[in-house]
Amino acid sequence: MGIRTGTISSGSIIRAINDYEDAFGHMVIDINGDLCHCHNRGCIETYCSIPSITKKFKELLKQGTPTYVDKPFDKIDFLDICAAAKENDILARQAITKAAEIFGIGLANYINLVTPELVILSGPIVKHSELFYNTAVEEALKRKYVKNHKVSFSRGGNFKDNAIAVGAAVLSVDEILNKATYGTFFYIF
Ligand SMILES: [Zn+2]
Repeated sequence: MGIRTGTISSGSIIRAINDYEDAFGHMVIDINGDLCHCHNRGCIETYCSIPSITKKFKELLKQGTPTYVDKPFDKIDFLDICAAAKENDILARQAITKAAEIFGIGLANYINLVTPELVILSGPIVKHSELFYNTAVEEALKRKYVKNHKVSFSRGGNFKDNAIAVGAAVLSVDEILNKATYGTFFYIF
């Protein structure tokens, strides 16, 4: 569970040597932050993945923040948090907003580096939480500093839930035809 990124520049996919495409998730945004499974501290993924948001929600719940989520503590999952946020549950909105702000900061860093024309955010978090998507985009736009660079955002892209399957097929076809398309794609789960 984490964040995967794919970037296409000048018609070619920028590939990582390990093919994991997980470097964005391990961008450090807090040098004294939470310990990540990669052994660094303060990686984006430690704040923005489904397990991280669920953990944060439960931490705040333990501290006594009230919530409308009416379920045994161990049974509360990410979908409950997204549903509660839609109903304006303060705790759920707090957990998702904080994660989305941190994601947006990383996104701004990434946008400044590669100046993409289009950024597609996808995966279960984006699908189930409009609040996460809107907050992340807002934060990224607020913090990006390349002023003459115009970037568009898409929630889910053209292919929605089929994106991974279509992407895998396109990779194979590209391998044969040596062609590619354009954009930056984030899958947050
Ligand atoms: Zn990490």
